[in-house]
Amino acid sequence: MLPDLLQNIATTIATFVLGAATCTLVELSLCAERQGWSSRLRGFLFTSLSLAAAVLMTALTQQLMHGAHLTPLFALDLASTIHSSNPLVITFGYTVAPLIGILVYDVGYYLFHRLQHTVPFLWRYHALHHSIEELNAFNSYHHVSEYLFRIPLLTIPLNLLFAVSEPQVVITAALVSVVGKLGHANTRIDFGPLRYLVTEPRFHRIHHSIEERHWNRNFSFYFPVLDVLFRPAYWPAKDELPRTGVDYLPEARSLNAFLFPAAPPEAAPREELRASAT
Ligand SMILES: [Zn+2]
Ligand SMILES: [Zn+2]
Repeated sequence: MLPDLLQNIATTIATFVLGAATCTLVELSLCAERQGWSSRLRGFLFTSLSLAAAVLMTALTQQLMHGAHLTPLFALDLASTIHSSNPLVITFGYTVAPLIGILVYDVGYYLFHRLQHTVPFLWRYHALHHSIEELNAFNSYHHVSEYLFRIPLLTIPLNLLFAVSEPQVVITAALVSVVGKLGHANTRIDFGPLRYLVTEPRFHRIHHSIEERHWNRNFSFYFPVLDVLFRPAYWPAKDELPRTGVDYLPEARSLNAFLFPAAPPEAAPREELRASAT
């Protein structure tokens, strides 16, 4: 059990380093703002701690769900679509079907993320992610407790509702992985018209903006259509790359500041701060 867990943690961290290093190449060639290397090193250390916590909590959740013999309400088997004799079904199997699981997850994450900006206790810890001033692929950590909150509010409800078996399409999996890693990259890369389908780094950067006019915009991580559906999405101009951070909380530069982020003034979450300011 323990060796498996340690191996899982090591693999997860190695995968993160590989993805972030690839994004760093994009950052170096199409950088959004000048940044030092110390934030990347700090980000690597903090992210490693968060990922280790995530792996531990995920393993614990799986054990609990397995022990309780819980099964999902809806099971969707799309894995066989690529072996169909119908060309339309095969096309669906290679294009849309591999994205269904991640779309379901992004809807759940969107709702959880909205809660994080609304409930003061959740915002206090989510604010650590927003406090990052040198946002880049290495330096985009979440607080260690975030995964603890995700389990009852996101992971367990989603697992109880849906189980999706998808076809394994390598190109799609690689694209989703790249988009996921690029989301926080310090880059002005332009996806062109594709930015309306998948989240461009500039789009998510607006969510991290320190400017009040950008607060509570662009909550989705993979599919911006969710922001179009649930509240107005903010489409940044080509050179609109605002500074990132939180006005009351400086970026963590010590383990103490990473583990124990300061509470916001009067414990007001972003939605309340915004409402009181308008
Ligand atoms: Zn947020
Ligand atoms: Zn983010």
